Amino acid sequence: MNKPASVPEQFDAVVVGAGFSGLYMLYRLRQLGLSVKVFDSAGDVGGTWYWNRYPGARCDVPTTDYTFSFDPELEKEWTWSEKYATQPEILEYLRFVADRHELRSDIEFSTAVTAARWDEPAKQWVITTGGGREVRCRHYIMATGCLSVAKSPDIEGAERFAGPVYFTSRWPHEGVDFTGQRVAVIGTGSSGIQSIPLIARQASQLTVFQRTANFSIPAHNGPAPAETLRQLDEGRDAYRDAARWSRGGVPVEPTDVLAGAASEEVRRERFEAAWQQGELFGILNIFADQGVNPAANDIVAEMIREKIRATVNDPETAEALCPRGHYFGTKRPCLDTGYFETFNLPHVRLVDLRKEPIVSITEDGIETAGESFGFDAIVYATGFDAMTGALVGADVTGRDGLTLKDKWVAGPSTYLGLMTTGFPNFFMLTGPGSPSVLSNMAVSIEQHVDWVAGCLKDLRDEGLETIEPTELAEAGWNQHNQDCAAITLHPTANSWYMGANVPGKPRVFLPYIGGVGAYRQACDDVVTQDYLGFTRTGPGAVRCTDGVIRSMQPDVAMVMEFVNALGLPAMETLSAAEARALMAATAEDRPPGPEVGEVTDGVIPGPDGDLPYRLYRPAGPPEGPRPVVVYFHGGGWVLGNLDSDDPLCRDLCARSGAVVVSVNYRHAPEVRFPAAALDAFAAVQWADANAIELGGIPGQLAVAGWSAGANVAAVACQLARDAGGPRITGQLLICPAVDSDLTRPSYEENGDGYILTTALMRWFWDHYADPADRGDPRAAPLRGDLAGLPPACIVAADFDPLRDEGVAYARALEAAAVPVRLTRARGHTHTSVTMVDVVISGAPVRAEMAAALGNFFPAAEPRAHVS
Ligand SMILES: Cc1cc2nc3c(=O)[nH]c(=O)nc-3n(C[C@H](O)[C@H](O)[C@H](O)COP(=O)(O)OP(=O)(O)OC[C@H]3O[C@@H](n4cnc5c(N)ncnc54)[C@H](O)[C@@H]3O)c2cc1C
Repeated sequence: MNKPASVPEQFDAVVVGAGFSGLYMLYRLRQLGLSVKVFDSAGDVGGTWYWNRYPGARCDVPTTDYTFSFDPELEKEWTWSEKYATQPEILEYLRFVADRHELRSDIEFSTAVTAARWDEPAKQWVITTGGGREVRCRHYIMATGCLSVAKSPDIEGAERFAGPVYFTSRWPHEGVDFTGQRVAVIGTGSSGIQSIPLIARQASQLTVFQRTANFSIPAHNGPAPAETLRQLDEGRDAYRDAARWSRGGVPVEPTDVLAGAASEEVRRERFEAAWQQGELFGILNIFADQGVNPAANDIVAEMIREKIRATVNDPETAEALCPRGHYFGTKRPCLDTGYFETFNLPHVRLVDLRKEPIVSITEDGIETAGESFGFDAIVYATGFDAMTGALVGADVTGRDGLTLKDKWVAGPSTYLGLMTTGFPNFFMLTGPGSPSVLSNMAVSIEQHVDWVAGCLKDLRDEGLETIEPTELAEAGWNQHNQDCAAITLHPTANSWYMGANVPGKPRVFLPYIGGVGAYRQACDDVVTQDYLGFTRTGPGAVRCTDGVIRSMQPDVAMVMEFVNALGLPAMETLSAAEARALMAATAEDRPPGPEVGEVTDGVIPGPDGDLPYRLYRPAGPPEGPRPVVVYFHGGGWVLGNLDSDDPLCRDLCARSGAVVVSVNYRHAPEVRFPAAALDAFAAVQWADANAIELGGIPGQLAVAGWSAGANVAAVACQLARDAGGPRITGQLLICPAVDSDLTRPSYEENGDGYILTTALMRWFWDHYADPADRGDPRAAPLRGDLAGLPPACIVAADFDPLRDEGVAYARALEAAAVPVRLTRARGHTHTSVTMVDVVISGAPVRAEMAAALGNFFPAAEPRAHVS
């Protein structure tokens, strides 16, 4: 019964949506004893499964996994009939859940929420429904779905067609009989691929209009997989728990097989096994590198294309159905039952819109650039305004009149995909910035709902009324979200994950790709750190622990996890010889770095005997001399050699187009300070004197080094200046050790846990130089006279104990009028920027280094491209 608008109803919480999310949210809020009202514009529960009734509609995550786990009794009472259940069965299941927990009494169906406004003085949301009715609540929760707003067809003349038009996402409840009809299907995403084989069974003619060919694999549907059932029988809780901490919300052991390293036989075997299994998380997990490495991805993509060619009889149609132009997995792959086979039927035809675009829809058909088609019915399977459509579709206005639509004009901004600054007590379930559509959503939904319920309980228990993320935390999460996407191939695709299917929608990667388990951990960590990044208020109380929950690059974090799991001894507990052996052993299996034109080894005369060097010459044109970079490896003056920094030297050479000469200097403790520095200076003198023999351009000489190598490179610059030559045109100092003072804050902040520790740095200094020598500028170049030094590029990594001395050196050089560029290796450690082809997020930093080298040699030729 509607009440007059002047006396609004009041609830603790209003939830919009009665699909998986809304139903479970209602259940949990009731458990907390809160008063709740749920609205849905649908006529019943089910959400996605209420609306998408097109023929062939099924889930694409096995139903044994795509199911609620919060109620063990419910799990016992419900048995899924198939591996991938049909829409009617999933809808029946959600009805069963609603009935079992008597949820309907708090749900109002056929009621759209059109607006919501935050009333700051009352600390309440005012919700407006379609009829203009208002209700008030303390907490406003949008469980409105990621794929619930259909994308409008945006095709010229769409409204002119006189016959029936169907949208897969709003299919008539009574079904459609296409018998004897000429039918057009526009769109070949998941819904198109599921429905086309079934529509083809009825239609007298079926014409499929395809803009983008999509990857699809056979579902091999049938009974629920015996293996999953066995695992569930033996330990349901353990199985569900494994799903909660998995990457995708289904317990799948991630592979460590790399496509590039596997033999053809192993590749085929793994591919065939995944093909036969017919599961998304299987085909996406054939090789560890298929989602990040273009060459690895091509191997899988080509094997799928082979399958399509082997299935479709007409070679031209087969070729048109072969996906090209996007990497496999960067658009949601589809699962099908007889999709490609359908194109062998005589009455089914494919129109490739890339070759023959639609010009207009007419009264009785479709006109393409090359042909006119007559149709009795048109089916649009054109997808959704995904992830943000429903959220910005309802007019949400937060504090100070800020609307969600305006706030997100350049792309959504959230903290954990759950909340957004300026909108207190406003929660999104599976919002942008959460794993959502990249995961088994049943698992992600339960996690989100549980987190929100826990949060509301904590607020109440602590006598607080409002919660809202801070700007710092939200910006940090957005950055982390984009960092996670950037190391994958995803941002290269025009996908709905990127908002690219909706004209005018900003191109931002919408879901969180760091994984379900990693995401859960982040959410849990936020809570255990006293709701880090949230401001919570109550009568007379403001509580806020501000901060960023994840600021390390995701691939750096993975490397750290891997290294920590190895349980290696701390280097500073070893002898120098043992430490060297350990370093060599850990480098054994790493990727070699990019190809360069030529690598030659030799020796140069040092102050006290020969010093080995390795020269890297770039591949390709131009022939003739190049600038020369003399490079010094890292390793705390104790460790390292020409091999240890080989991939980095290759990378610098390939990116910069310069000849790189890596010189090995004498090591401590065998030979102590100032031997390494003197060797470095001798190497620079030698390279300058022998520029022509090295294939260099005389006068175009820079130095570079990493860590202790950067120390000796910096010292060489000071010695060269003092000696009146040679002329060095630039210095690239990567995470340099430039001072012996180990008390700067970064030694405290990053002193433990990031491979290079404060203790290890102390060990290095103890091996290299007597305390009395450590203030000498040849040991601590920061303490020297910096005037007249060559231009510098200094790389300082966030999680490096040496970060602050690198920054201090940059400032000091600047103060001495030396041109300097400070490059922040955001989210990196001391070692991660050098891990070529292991830490993908290091590539942009190394590109900056190469650009800096290029700037030292303004006349140099263009560089080779290294991704
Ligand atoms: C065809 C299809 C197959 C899918 N298969 C899978 C799968 O196999 N595995 C998987 O994990 N995910 C799958 N998904 C994703 C699916 O959307 C989610 O798994 C899940 O059903 C989402 O539940 P939800 O409650 O969050 O949202 P929804 O089910 O979308 O429910 C949202 C509800 O909110 C209502 N609503 C929205 N805005 C308003 C408003 N302003 N006022 C009132 N009501 C509103 C809608 O009417 C809708 O009923 C599939 C999606 C589709 C379209």
